[in-house]
Amino acid sequence: MTDKKELSFDTVILGGGPAGLSAAIYAARGNISTAIVDLTMFGGQPSNYLELENYPSYPNVGGYDLMEKFEEHADKFGVEKFPMQEIQSVDLKSEPKIIETLDTIFKAKTVIIATGAKASKLGISGEKEFLGRGVSYCAVCDGAFYRDKTVCVVGGGNAAVEEACYLTKFATKVYLIHRRDKLRADKIVQERAFANPKVEFVWNTIPLEIKGENNVETLVVQDVKTNETKEIKTDGVFPYIGFTPNVDLFNGQIEQTPQGFIETDTRLQTSVDGVFAAGDVRNTPLRQVITAAADGAIAACSCVKFLEEQQTLTVH
Ligand SMILES: Cc1cc2nc3c(=O)[nH]c(=O)nc-3n(C[C@H](O)[C@H](O)[C@H](O)COP(=O)(O)OP(=O)(O)OC[C@H]3O[C@@H](n4cnc5c(N)ncnc54)[C@H](O)[C@@H]3O)c2cc1C
Repeated sequence: MTDKKELSFDTVILGGGPAGLSAAIYAARGNISTAIVDLTMFGGQPSNYLELENYPSYPNVGGYDLMEKFEEHADKFGVEKFPMQEIQSVDLKSEPKIIETLDTIFKAKTVIIATGAKASKLGISGEKEFLGRGVSYCAVCDGAFYRDKTVCVVGGGNAAVEEACYLTKFATKVYLIHRRDKLRADKIVQERAFANPKVEFVWNTIPLEIKGENNVETLVVQDVKTNETKEIKTDGVFPYIGFTPNVDLFNGQIEQTPQGFIETDTRLQTSVDGVFAAGDVRNTPLRQVITAAADGAIAACSCVKFLEEQQTLTVH
């Protein structure tokens, strides 16, 4: 016997970022009972960075403010919210599907996975050891600790370049270390970085090791063309080299890419009937707030349709 409480829903959404909250709005508005469960508070990644400039109709909006609006919108349609839930296990193949947290067993006719992705690790010596002592994956959270200091950002996409520029508000010098000789970031983002005198580009270079006594002191790097290595004196290292999906709970239950991203069809259904995936966690060509929100809408509408079809099947 378990003393956990049992709750049943038409759909349980795992993850309360842009994809999950958007799915919640569409599902609840589609008149199916909807729960949304998150490991932390709702809002996902945007809650941790300062501004978005590319969310239509908001040329400049705070990430936290935008996500607060998403959440308020979900509240309006009576979505049941379960923040700060550590999920212990998920059984996607049982009927109903079971999600078990420390104190609750959720029974769900359908599940929408919207657990997003986290920053990929460099996988070099010193990265783990100096986490919180010079290594950080969040410029907005930790940038202020680097006032009048030198930092290295690793990567060449939008996140890396934007965060490098953001760090110049505090740091006197920001090295942008990139393994190629050109950036992947959007043109407008690149132009801003090129015009910023505090950003110095270190091209064709990969990080090898982070060194220091108590805190980060140097980053050892290697030129991929000449194989030459050198040490850059730095107080901080911010890796922005991509993302790894948050899929530990689902591994082995659904089809995934070799990197772990969840495969979906055009209705965003996964390889398991009644299980959908939305946002950064799935195999998608663009990982942004707008695409995550759009995914959430598609997944939720597919859920509603799936449940309607199931009912039709039962009646006939
Ligand atoms: C530094 C940075 C800057 C960015 N700038 C922009 C920008 O300017 N414009 C833009 O459009 N996009 C930007 N993005 C990308 C954008 O933030 C993501 O594409 C978007 O947040 C994806 O939404 P999501 O809902 O799929 O995932 P997330 O936002 O990652 O949300 C996932 C949620 O799932 C929860 N979760 C994770 N694991 C579990 C679990 N096991 N159980 C329960 N809950 C779980 C998390 O706590 C989180 O709340 C940026 C990203 C970063 C990192």
